[in-house]
Amino acid sequence: MKSLESKRKKKSIRNFNIERLVRKNIRALKSYSSAREEFTAVGSIHLDANENSYGGPLEYNYHRYPDPLQKELKKKISTLKELSLKQIFLGNGSDEVIDLLYRVFCRPGKDHVIICPPTYGMYEVCAKINDVEVKRIPLQENFQLDISSILAGIDNYSRLIFICSPNNPTGNDFTRENVNEILEHFPGIMIIDEAYGDFSKQPSFIDMLGDHPNLVVVQTLSKAWGLAALRVGMAFAGETIIQWINKIKPPYNISGSTQELTLRGLEAKYSVDQKIRALQKERNFLTCSFLKFPDIIEKTYPSSANFLLVKTKAPKKIYSYLIQKGIVLRDRSAEELCEGCLRITVGTHKENQLLIEALENYQKS
Ligand SMILES: *Cc1c(COP(=O)(O)O)cnc(C)c1O
Repeated sequence: MKSLESKRKKKSIRNFNIERLVRKNIRALKSYSSAREEFTAVGSIHLDANENSYGGPLEYNYHRYPDPLQKELKKKISTLKELSLKQIFLGNGSDEVIDLLYRVFCRPGKDHVIICPPTYGMYEVCAKINDVEVKRIPLQENFQLDISSILAGIDNYSRLIFICSPNNPTGNDFTRENVNEILEHFPGIMIIDEAYGDFSKQPSFIDMLGDHPNLVVVQTLSKAWGLAALRVGMAFAGETIIQWINKIKPPYNISGSTQELTLRGLEAKYSVDQKIRALQKERNFLTCSFLKFPDIIEKTYPSSANFLLVKTKAPKKIYSYLIQKGIVLRDRSAEELCEGCLRITVGTHKENQLLIEALENYQKS
């Protein structure tokens, strides 16, 4: 049984041709070749990149252009993720990764992408910036993917499908079965955004990369790793897709200081894991505490991320009340399927206690 199934899979993979999906102008492009790419040896006199040979104004010198392909950083990440260097792309935040995927694969004014709202807003904003149409296939009431509608929505112009798991703002994971179902039937590129994956019990979809040349898994150091200001997003995919993104990326898209600080940050996996566990504990604490306010919070949705989506009777009123108390939430009540909903990032224990105190006072008022 199993071998029959895998045979069928193999066949569909052999027929899958990524080049066919790459825009013609990108295929024809001769990319910019930077000085640091053309000559990488050390210990020479570098008179090739028009840097300031006397150095910069800081104690620490940043006067040389950084490694365009971030090899040290990728080495570290390849160990952490158990992937080869050639399966890794690093971007200036995942937002750059998303934008580059549009520019490799979507012909403006012609192709479309599929998104499943309510979800992360950048997929759609990026589509509009690139003049690419968006097909919206909303989640079902239970926030799971509407597989049959997604499959029915696919045509020759469907280039990318964005799935965010755990999903922002609903907080739930998507099942492997559902993701697999789409992957097996979609002749375009499927992107799984795991920005919140480190907070989830569900394993990463990275282990599906080997079987699916049309899969891109996107992660970030902005959430669980606590490095949002450094701006590092990661794309994991087959070598071919990575090569195409590399071809069009800005030459020095990750700054030298970011590369250095990120390398240091990645050494501290143990303390990051501790913080993740603390946030998961606080997520439970908030979920339980919200039960004390049935008049304010009708429902707290289960979450695999570091935020909670709550359904309220008066989102605008609660939102403004908390702003007055100095507590800022995210009003998601205008989103599809999110009527009355606020999104609450899990804070430190102290911050969460202050939020609960404020809700107690709101209930009394
Ligand atoms: C926060 C977030 C990101 C992170 O974006 P960066 O540009 O890497 O900071 C990506 N995807 C989703 C769904 C997010 O919520």
